[in-house]
Amino acid sequence: MTNRPFKTGESRHQPSLLPPRIEDYVEPDNPVRAIESYVCALDLAKLGFRHAERSAEAMGQPPYDPADLLKLYLYGYINQVRSSRRLEREACRNLELIWLLRNLRPGYRTIAHFRKENWAALKAVNRGFVLLVRELGLVGGSLVAIDGSFFHGDASKASIFTRKRLAEQIARLDLEIEAYGRSVEDNDAAEANEPRKDRADGPGSGSGGDGGDIGARVSALMAKRLRAEADLARLEASGETQMSLTDSDARLLVKNGQGIAGYNVQSVVDDKHMLIVASEVVNDSSDVGQLHAMAKAAKDALEAEALQALADEGYYSSLELKACEDDGITAYVPVPEGRRQLEKKGRFSLKDFSYDPAADAYRCPTGELLRPTEGRWKNASGRVEVRYLGRKVTCAACPLRAKCLAPKASYRSIARWEHEDVLERHRARMESQEAARLMQRRSAIVEHPFGTLKCRAGYQHFLVRGFDKVRGEWSLMALCYNFTRVLNILGLKRFIACMAASLLLLECAPTVALRGILRILGLSRPCSLQLANESAPAS
Ligand code: SF4
Repeated sequence: MTNRPFKTGESRHQPSLLPPRIEDYVEPDNPVRAIESYVCALDLAKLGFRHAERSAEAMGQPPYDPADLLKLYLYGYINQVRSSRRLEREACRNLELIWLLRNLRPGYRTIAHFRKENWAALKAVNRGFVLLVRELGLVGGSLVAIDGSFFHGDASKASIFTRKRLAEQIARLDLEIEAYGRSVEDNDAAEANEPRKDRADGPGSGSGGDGGDIGARVSALMAKRLRAEADLARLEASGETQMSLTDSDARLLVKNGQGIAGYNVQSVVDDKHMLIVASEVVNDSSDVGQLHAMAKAAKDALEAEALQALADEGYYSSLELKACEDDGITAYVPVPEGRRQLEKKGRFSLKDFSYDPAADAYRCPTGELLRPTEGRWKNASGRVEVRYLGRKVTCAACPLRAKCLAPKASYRSIARWEHEDVLERHRARMESQEAARLMQRRSAIVEHPFGTLKCRAGYQHFLVRGFDKVRGEWSLMALCYNFTRVLNILGLKRFIACMAASLLLLECAPTVALRGILRILGLSRPCSLQLANESAPAS
């Protein structure tokens, strides 16, 4: 029992609060030590960091070591401190950062320039971490899920123009200029009708006193109109559909009626530990056209022979499905509802017709054959198709014609893509129980990183502008997500030991280092590790 009313702190007059050694500022099991071990294991010169190759003989004031600034950013992004000014403050007062940076205190400009100048190196670090987790056997390497998520850019919606918005702005300005023009005429007329004595004080007095103001306002509106016209001309010359005045690469992105000004971040997540294995930042609202590029990037990163890729129906594209199949990627993408219009209307759809490859003909529900016409057609999306037609006489007499033909059609026509067999295999795959099971897992896999980054860490927007820098910042976010996850999976001791073994990999024989990693992880042989000398006993 104490006789104090409240808990009391330390006296401000005691000579020392902190331990004398900076090393003792953080506990041996503090996760900040993982950042130290990881950055020390990197070859920053090879990764392309500025100043990484600077020699001791170089003239002038020495810059900050890129390793220290990378540690600062890793610590900051892991702990939801992103802005350069906040990082500057934390480096002065945060004991973990004082330990990590050995009391170095870079200014906010230095911190901000590091992120802007080293965007390509940050991407390389992120890629390197994926290779590391692959070598550590922390990815399954056979099943991935792909998804996109919008992030706000450093631009407002008002700073992005489309042709329609510019045309509307010009029309609005025309109306305002016209209205001001009318009011000037009305003023002139009123002044002309006033008795001479009322205007003894000269122009600008009485009812016409705001004539000068109106003139200035009209001039301002005219200048605004000229700018809008110049913007419209520039937009038309560029061939783009949008133009951003603040961040030239940010775009108005719209999904499910919600619009933002920013970027669409594509991410591929491995199913074993929900680690991001590939990602990209694009500025298109639509995910169509991203399936193959993202799945191929993941397949290359994982060095997988074959890969199953799950995506939502926004990724459905026949050309993308074919590209995936050609590259050994089995894609599971639901067929969009929009392609089932005939089924919804109760009419026969393509799946009610069976294709006979031997006869090169479709067989309809009544058993009649639809034969191919001569020649090929290119449809609006660039697919080369062959048309198969029913016979007019047969269709006219068919008892099922109401369910089969459009109201004004006299025979049934089916367009078959030259690679329709790819879609047939995909349709059959999507009807299997395996597809239903995998699609249930899709969102749980791919939404884990976005949920963690956007909801837990609060990263909903980028702090930098332009594709290069935004991609660099996204690399930091993805790296910190993967880093935290791997640290949680391995634990601090095994993580630090793995980094030490990675350092060996850089500096000495790879086989020795890989065996070291195997032993640390307590694994006999992670899936992707191939030891050069299998017969030699592990040392
Ligand atoms: S309308 Fe023609 S194509 Fe359709 S089911 Fe009848 S016969 Fe077959």
